[in-house]
Amino acid sequence: MAQDCIFCKIGAGAIPSTMLYKDETCFVIRDIHPKAPTHLLVIPRRHFTALTGAQATDDGMLGHLLAVASKVAKQEGVADSGYRLVVNQGENSGQEVPHLHVHLLAGRKLAVMG
Ligand code: 5GP
Ligand code: ZN
Repeated sequence: MAQDCIFCKIGAGAIPSTMLYKDETCFVIRDIHPKAPTHLLVIPRRHFTALTGAQATDDGMLGHLLAVASKVAKQEGVADSGYRLVVNQGENSGQEVPHLHVHLLAGRKLAVMG
C-alpha cells in the first residue's frame, strides 16, 4: 500500500466505498465524477503507478483486470449495448490518480477518441 494513495486506501477499506465486485487481486467501484451513465473503475489491489511499473510476472493480473471488466459489464447490463475501457498513463493522458486502473464507460454513445 502506497501512503497517501486514494485507491490503496479504498482497497484496504480505510476509506469506505461500495464495491461492485471484489476478489484478492482487484476491486471495482463507481467513479466519483462519472463521465458516462455507467463509469466504473477496475483497480488492482497492489499499487502500480502505471503500466510501466508492471513486470512480466504481472501479465496474469493485467489480463484479470480485463476479464473482471467484462464480468462487471455483464453484471451492470451494458455488455450488449457496448462500452469502452480506458487506461490513462502519464501526463499527456491526463492521469489524475497515480495508481493503475481501468475505466469502464458505458450507457451512451461515446465520442470517437482523439
Ligand atoms: P485518471 O484520470 O487517473 O485515469 O482517473 C482517475 C479517476 O478516479 C477520475 O475519473 C476520478 O473521478 C476518480 N476518482 C478520484 N478520486 C476518487 C475517489 O475517491 N473515489 C472514486 N470512486 N473515484 C475517484
Ligand atoms: Zn495505490
